[in-house]
Amino acid sequence: MNSTRQLVHLRSLFVASVALIATTIAHRGWKRQPRGTTGHGMLDLVCHFGTACVVTLPVLPNTRHQREFGLVAIGSAVTLDLDHVLAARSLEVNSWMTMPSRPPTHSLGAMLALAWAVERMAPGKRLWLAVLLGIGSHLLRDLATGGAPLWHPRRVITWPVPAVFASLTLLTVAGWFLAGMPIREQPLRIRHRRINPGS
Ligand SMILES: [Zn+2]
Repeated sequence: MNSTRQLVHLRSLFVASVALIATTIAHRGWKRQPRGTTGHGMLDLVCHFGTACVVTLPVLPNTRHQREFGLVAIGSAVTLDLDHVLAARSLEVNSWMTMPSRPPTHSLGAMLALAWAVERMAPGKRLWLAVLLGIGSHLLRDLATGGAPLWHPRRVITWPVPAVFASLTLLTVAGWFLAGMPIREQPLRIRHRRINPGS
């Protein structure tokens, strides 16, 4: 690894550490807010943004399409909770935040389906990995804050905070490793056109 790449990696790790501290502070504020308030909802969004940054930033220097990768990872993490709006069929923050359980789209099945769809839309950029990092970080935080229907829509699972921290670390390391693997180039398709001699 040359010195410039090393510097980029160190800078990413430093910014990820700052994001971790900021997210921890935001999480404490989120815990103090009454459930169902706008403040509670906004801080939850900030925490999801921060957690996605912590997981994605160390991986980013290993990716070839950094801007798209970062946007998909962070974007998927912060927009997943839009399913609350659809499930509650209401525009009131209170109704989104006080649902008995998180919607079925907070699951591994939905995460894999989205990763597949994104790869189909923009193949060869490894954006499926960005979805796994973004949605994965979101689901892991949710597992420690009320749980999510990870495997089955009617079975809400909760994890203890240490298990979530260990899984977030594992997700980052796995993401870093997979992002650095060489991308197989798509073979060029040569179209054989019939040439009309009369034209
Ligand atoms: Zn959520």
